[in-house]
Amino acid sequence: MPAGCSPPPATTGTTRASLPVSPGRRTSDTRRDLVVRQLVDLYGPQASTPIDYLDHRWGAEPFAPGGPHPVAGPHTTVSYGRALTEPHGRIHWAGTETAGEWAGTMNGAVLTGWRTAENVAALLSRDVREGASR
Ligand SMILES: Cc1cc2nc3c(=O)[nH]c(=O)nc-3n(C[C@H](O)[C@H](O)[C@H](O)COP(=O)(O)OP(=O)(O)OC[C@H]3O[C@@H](n4cnc5c(N)ncnc54)[C@H](O)[C@@H]3O)c2cc1C
Repeated sequence: MPAGCSPPPATTGTTRASLPVSPGRRTSDTRRDLVVRQLVDLYGPQASTPIDYLDHRWGAEPFAPGGPHPVAGPHTTVSYGRALTEPHGRIHWAGTETAGEWAGTMNGAVLTGWRTAENVAALLSRDVREGASR
């Protein structure tokens, strides 16, 4: 299923496509043919010659098996979730895996970015205030 990802106004577009049925059993050439055929169905013959084509088997990824969402085992978040979010000295963590809501999605990534930026900004403000009062 192709999905367009191009900001308007675009004369050149980016599209991603997911093949749901055993993509690993097909050759990369066959996968490319299937994707390009769908693009041609959707956008017409000019879509038959993409400028570039990238093929990646997310199911073969060791750390994000299957994509798009990382899957933690049962009780992992409850048992170890805090360890992902606690700052380590001056290092503060963001990223979708640290999200309390929408973990594994872009939304979770953005929410944790805001959360972490706010925490760091608050600490920096405190440092400035305390430095000024010393
Ligand atoms: C195939 C697929 C489809 C997806 N589809 C959707 C979707 O439709 N909707 C949705 O909401 N979410 C989707 N997601 C999930 C979404 O993409 C992720 O949740 C999101 O990108 C996570 O953002 P992040 O900032 O937490 O991490 P990332 O985007 O993974 O960013 C981490 C960054 O850190 C960098 N990095 C790693 N190690 C180091 C290092 N040692 N030093 C420096 N840099 C390093 C990496 O290169 C990377 O750029 C999909 C994911 C995949 C894989």
